[in-house]
Amino acid sequence: MLPYQTIQEAELAFGRELTVAEKLWFNYSANKSDYYLYCHNVLFLFCIFSLVPLPYVFLELKRSKNVDKYKIQPKVRLSSSEMFRCYKEVMRMFILVVGPLQLVSYPSVKFIGIRTSLPLPSGWEIVLQLVVYFIIEDFGNYWIHRWLHCKWGYEKIHRVHHEYTAPFGFAAPYAHWAEILILGIPSFIAPALVPGHMITFWLWIALRQIEAIDTHSGYDFPWNPTKYIPFYGGAEYHDYHHYVGGQSQSNFASVFTYCDYIYGTDKGYRFLKKHLEQFKEKWRNETEQEVKLE
Ligand SMILES: [Zn+2]
Ligand SMILES: [Zn+2]
Repeated sequence: MLPYQTIQEAELAFGRELTVAEKLWFNYSANKSDYYLYCHNVLFLFCIFSLVPLPYVFLELKRSKNVDKYKIQPKVRLSSSEMFRCYKEVMRMFILVVGPLQLVSYPSVKFIGIRTSLPLPSGWEIVLQLVVYFIIEDFGNYWIHRWLHCKWGYEKIHRVHHEYTAPFGFAAPYAHWAEILILGIPSFIAPALVPGHMITFWLWIALRQIEAIDTHSGYDFPWNPTKYIPFYGGAEYHDYHHYVGGQSQSNFASVFTYCDYIYGTDKGYRFLKKHLEQFKEKWRNETEQEVKLE
């Protein structure tokens, strides 16, 4: 809820004209409560969990040779019913855990100082805050995820997320209810330490989930824009963690690679990747020679 009745009143208070984005925000949010605005996250998450994995599902079902070469575990094929079963379970958790958690956590969001007021933050402010959120969350997530791989944590909680040794888009939020709650902590600590505008908070919740779906997609496309993000793990990186499964003591980080590097939990992955590259190079050379001889 904004403390101004009209745009003119807000402009008078700021001593300047509102930007186009600020006018849009004013028109949208002026008569809506902060709680109502915060609850938009429930709708955003529902749309993200339901729609973002769909292109990958389409690729999985289409089985085109041109795209198959980018599939990380090409031998694993999932049927539409298997993927739908996963989606149904994700939606069950959404209704029972994710949604209610969003609805009841409003007082804490208010407490940490997420604001809905004008002026809006600049684009740079939003980007920098999001970068900080990702770094903080990645660090917290790394240690919680590592703990979830201890015997008790894995058997009681994390085993559910590892049911899929070859992950796909819908499997990103597929987890035990306790894991959803525990991993929500670092997602919340980040904006609590660096509170910003509600728009930044929406973007944070949305981008973090889109990133998780991309990381679980099962496809490693060379043109993926995330390739330009320094120290970004990506689909292949996390796929290895699922491939190894419960015994995995490697690639715990959710977004970046530096935690695993610093704490030495990416050695197995780096060893395999190096040898795979050498094997692929050798195989490429041999194929080229065979073609020339023909
Ligand atoms: Zn794990
Ligand atoms: Zn995963």
